[in-house]
Amino acid sequence: MKGTPITEQLYNYIVEHFAQEDDLLRQLPAEAEKRGVPLIHISPEQGRFLQVLMKAAGAKRALEIGSLFGYSAIWLARALPEDGRLLALEAHPLHAQLTRENVARAGLSSKVEVREGNALDLLAALDPGEPFDFVFIDADKPGYVAYLEHALRLVRPGSVIVGDNASAAGNVWKVDAAPDDEYIRAIHAFNHRMATDPRLLSILAPISDGMCVGVVIK
Ligand code: MG
Repeated sequence: MKGTPITEQLYNYIVEHFAQEDDLLRQLPAEAEKRGVPLIHISPEQGRFLQVLMKAAGAKRALEIGSLFGYSAIWLARALPEDGRLLALEAHPLHAQLTRENVARAGLSSKVEVREGNALDLLAALDPGEPFDFVFIDADKPGYVAYLEHALRLVRPGSVIVGDNASAAGNVWKVDAAPDDEYIRAIHAFNHRMATDPRLLSILAPISDGMCVGVVIK
């Protein structure tokens, strides 16, 4: 295997030099945990990676599927231009409420709309006439392929689609040996579609739990 394995020191270097959280982002996870929210939010270097991709795509309209407590929405919205908009979809009422509160504390309410409900229902109501430049999928894994189908319906050439947890905690490669593991199967099905859809040029980037990134090429 070619490449440099990541160490804690290297990881800390990356975060310190590229992806430092401000005071708000730093305090959100502990607050969310007190409200009973699982701490499965993205990590700071993932937030920065999403921002780099958004800027490279010239993203003005972004879509997030699965917002948890708004940590990733804040990273995403901060990479939008002044007239940019993020639509954040969240199924869990408490999580949607916390996302709204935390986005407001970040001063980003004018850029972020949080819609609460079943993502498939909310996605079905969206009009492809107003395409998204950027889509971040970070929700229930069995839904990933269906979310990707909608994402492909709602983007334009040059848009970027990202799916989180694409390594399935490092286990996605075990898919053939674990036919009953729904989580691994769902992630693999998503990765396979990202890798083979002729509209996408994609890579699984081994950042945190893996981010599968696809650029829409046609
Ligand atoms: Mg995730």
